[in-house]
Amino acid sequence: MLFLTQKNCILCGVSATQDLCEPCYIHLPRLPANHCPICLWPVPTAEICGACLTKPPAFTHTIAAFRYTFPIDAMIHSLKYRTHLAIAPILANLLITRLKTTSLLPDVIIPMPLHPIRLRERGFNQAMEISRYISKQMGIALLPDSCKRIKHTPPQTGLPWKDRQKNIRKAFDCKIDLSGKHVALVDDVMTTGATLNELAKVLRKQGAAEISNWVIARTLPEVMQ
Ligand SMILES: [Zn+2]
Ligand SMILES: [Zn+2]
Repeated sequence: MLFLTQKNCILCGVSATQDLCEPCYIHLPRLPANHCPICLWPVPTAEICGACLTKPPAFTHTIAAFRYTFPIDAMIHSLKYRTHLAIAPILANLLITRLKTTSLLPDVIIPMPLHPIRLRERGFNQAMEISRYISKQMGIALLPDSCKRIKHTPPQTGLPWKDRQKNIRKAFDCKIDLSGKHVALVDDVMTTGATLNELAKVLRKQGAAEISNWVIARTLPEVMQ
């Protein structure tokens, strides 16, 4: 964390030197240590999971700061649905801490685009807010308007996992030349990875050589938590 002035922990309210006090930070929900490097599915041997072997996604790698569960889910909810914009740099900082352990740094960052109708409803794109902060802090170029969401789909959260791939098909349009580039795709939450995969497919067509998903949190079935 960057700020050393006295403040209050955003989760429990005790006075702290950072955005989160030490006990709250330590208890944030981490992912299992051993997981598939492509999609983060828990695998005891930390090898590529069966699903990624059978049907390799268009992305090559995923990094998530946390598991999508309390209190990270509440923080993301507060950012997206209560317009608590100050949460964005806090979540971005937590992801940056996690990114410092990777040697796979991309050439460019692309935020997951929102459809213009959703953008108008919400007033901002949370993935853009997070991306902008990471780009500035890590000195990696941001391509904010390189890809567009051209299909206004029902929210993925309301759909069974099996229907999500169908719902998101042909949802994106991207014109930029990404030949040979390593792209980091930034989003707040990865659930099945269907949305990220659909955008990654489009980026591949534009020439991207490698695509890393950078997400704040990854959803895992409860049995695995
Ligand atoms: Zn606290
Ligand atoms: Zn996998």
